[in-house]
Amino acid sequence: MLKIEELHVYYGGIHAVKGISLHIPKGKIVTLIGANGAGKSSTIRSIAGLVRSAKGKILYTSNEGVEENILGKTPEFIVKKGIAMSPEGRRILPHLTVEENLLLGAYIRDDKEGIEKDMDHVYSLFPRLRERAWQKGGTLSGGEQQMLAVGRALMSRPDLVMMDEPSLGLAPMLVKEVFDIIREINAQGKTVLLVEQNAFAALKVAHHAYILEVGSIVLSGPGEDLLKNPRVKEAYLGG
Ligand code: ATP
Repeated sequence: MLKIEELHVYYGGIHAVKGISLHIPKGKIVTLIGANGAGKSSTIRSIAGLVRSAKGKILYTSNEGVEENILGKTPEFIVKKGIAMSPEGRRILPHLTVEENLLLGAYIRDDKEGIEKDMDHVYSLFPRLRERAWQKGGTLSGGEQQMLAVGRALMSRPDLVMMDEPSLGLAPMLVKEVFDIIREINAQGKTVLLVEQNAFAALKVAHHAYILEVGSIVLSGPGEDLLKNPRVKEAYLGG
């Protein structure tokens, strides 16, 4: 579904991503693991069209089976192709209600009935958001804002959902809930690219994982294999 070939990302003099290549097969959960500053966010922001200075290829095959290089395309073009991103942290609009935030995720669509159906679907995934539909986004707890960011990404009805650290700062109970929901979204047919610092949970859920260190991929393999890998255990799973 998505193939990255030799991707480089630069911020002025900083070479943040150094020629990485990776593959996200349709229907799978793929995770990118790495320490702070490894280049995980830069990679998914490049796919989403949010990075100005990047080179290489990001080859996306849409549901119609057409492959094209989306590197350098606008975020709107990329969302219309079926790729959505739930950003790191609390990047929801604090002065808008939960419902308004969700509707923003559907800005490229004009099928009113479909939007209502998907809204209902998001509320069934996250009952907590339904209870708070009229509450301002900024007054939600951190975990609820995280859920809202994921829900908003789903509202564009994407084929590929990218999540940047959806479990960041969540209490253990909520972390479990978020990973259960990732599994469920995938079981409903969506391909998932997950960026995480919670290596244990991410490797458990992922079909395939890539480990990034200072802008390069140093290791990759099925999630369950990497969970047993001594180097991964030592560096990412607390020994
Ligand atoms: P984290 O887990 O801390 O979010 P990350 O793996 O997602 O880290 P990136 O956010 O991709 O890492 O950052 C990779 C490198 O690029 C870091 O050294 C960071 O300081 C740098 N960087 C990221 N965004 C910018 C920017 N807008 N301007 C300058 N440097 C940046």
